[in-house]
Amino acid sequence: MDIAVAPDLKPHDEIPLDPRYADLRDPYHTPVLPTPLPQPRLLHFNAALAAELGLDTGDQELIEILSGNRPWPAYAPIASVYAGHQFGSWVSQLGDGRALTIAEIRKPDGARVELQLKGAGQTPYSRGADGRAVLRSSIREYLCSEAMHALGIPTTRCLSLVASPEPVQRETVETAAVVCRVAPSFVRFGQFEFFYHRNQHAQLAPLADHVIAENFPHLAGEPDRYARWLEEVIERTARLIAQWQTVGFCHGVMNTDNFSILGLTLDYGPFGFLDAFRQHHVCNHSDYEGRYGYDSQPLIGQWNTSRLLQAALPLLSDNQQIAADIVTSIYERYAPAYSRAAIRRWADKLGLREVRDGDTGLISRLLTILHHGKSDFTRSFRHLSRVRTDTDTPANGVREEICDVAAFDAWIADYRARLRAEQNTDDAARAARMNRVNPKYVLRNHLAQAAIERAMDGDDTEIDTLMQLLSRPYDEQPDRERYADAPPDELRHLEISCSS
Ligand code: AMP
Ligand code: MG
Repeated sequence: MDIAVAPDLKPHDEIPLDPRYADLRDPYHTPVLPTPLPQPRLLHFNAALAAELGLDTGDQELIEILSGNRPWPAYAPIASVYAGHQFGSWVSQLGDGRALTIAEIRKPDGARVELQLKGAGQTPYSRGADGRAVLRSSIREYLCSEAMHALGIPTTRCLSLVASPEPVQRETVETAAVVCRVAPSFVRFGQFEFFYHRNQHAQLAPLADHVIAENFPHLAGEPDRYARWLEEVIERTARLIAQWQTVGFCHGVMNTDNFSILGLTLDYGPFGFLDAFRQHHVCNHSDYEGRYGYDSQPLIGQWNTSRLLQAALPLLSDNQQIAADIVTSIYERYAPAYSRAAIRRWADKLGLREVRDGDTGLISRLLTILHHGKSDFTRSFRHLSRVRTDTDTPANGVREEICDVAAFDAWIADYRARLRAEQNTDDAARAARMNRVNPKYVLRNHLAQAAIERAMDGDDTEIDTLMQLLSRPYDEQPDRERYADAPPDELRHLEISCSS
């Protein structure tokens, strides 16, 4: 008999600290105290993540720490400095303008994670902005990072969401909130760019060595560690974006300062999951040129890796030509890594066990049909698992999502033929496999918006409902069927901008 062992949860002050990132010190970051948050109200606490961290959920002092109103014992909070390419333009000075690392702890499994408050007040890098985050964007980050985690997509996580009546001026006056984010590292591409472009090349190695020691320990001490580490970063980035594409996730602000050195989805702003599928969908209404449209994401990811690789040149060789050659060979890994990961995932979504000649064409034909019909991305793929190979009955469900039914019927005939060519053609087994990669529930904008509006009226229950729903995105949840619906017409075009 299995005996479930309750995890050994501890109050925060008994969790071991391990300030490896803080120990890097100046010039990588600056000590800053959080600005206290008036009248904090805990809107949500991620008990599942807390248990993973070994944290006792009944710890009242912890809530004050997560609001920024009390320090984590024996840790001096820090804000990191970085730069970045924003919408393609170089910005030499950014940094954590409103994020503070408030602890680095060892989890019960021995892994080190960092806790970071977002919206905890001004820092030396705030560039005149208020250091706060509004409730609306904090709810979106909180929900989406956990939704991505449950989808199996690498991401920073969120432990807590605290709201306050403190007014915050954006386009209108809103109110403040603070989320506590959790990740093994929040180091961004832009941190390396900062030191490279300021000609502080000696600062690159300690930062890279820290990242390698903590997060790529198999490379630590190896003579060619920087090149091998960069290869892994580039491949992780490619695989991450393949995951975004195949789940219909648009990041919205793929600036290099928002790119994680661990290949995590980082900095949730005006992101969006595709409802109606349009290849060039731009989810960020502040992205006037459509630089970060859905179909541009893979190439933008590649361009971002080129910015990181340029910043890493001094790590690779003192000889500029040799360093450039190494960088070129690393850069060339992105495209095949992306293609491999993407085709594998698209094939999984179609229930194909192996990728054969012609499968790429089958996938792109389907995407073209979805695009022309503005079909719902998530629903269309989910319904595909219902296609039967043993009969030619219409593909119920998915056919209703499609506009160009003639093109779709021709496609379905080819798809069925392709399925029949699989070694094992058991429909039920294939459907089960497909339902583990084609989510039923994603954080559609209108669902997040409903939770935001309710929370603004003082009702947090919808946040909890969505947290529960999105923690099982691949499962049928019959009592929550309506959450799988496409948005009603009037909620299809919610405007989500950079303002947060
Ligand atoms: P983002 O567009 O959220 O990635 O932010 C770009 C940069 O501006 C980051 O360095 C942020 O820390 C900073 N920033 C964004 N909003 C604020 C704010 N309200 N106060 C201070 N800094 C901010
Ligand atoms: Mg950012």
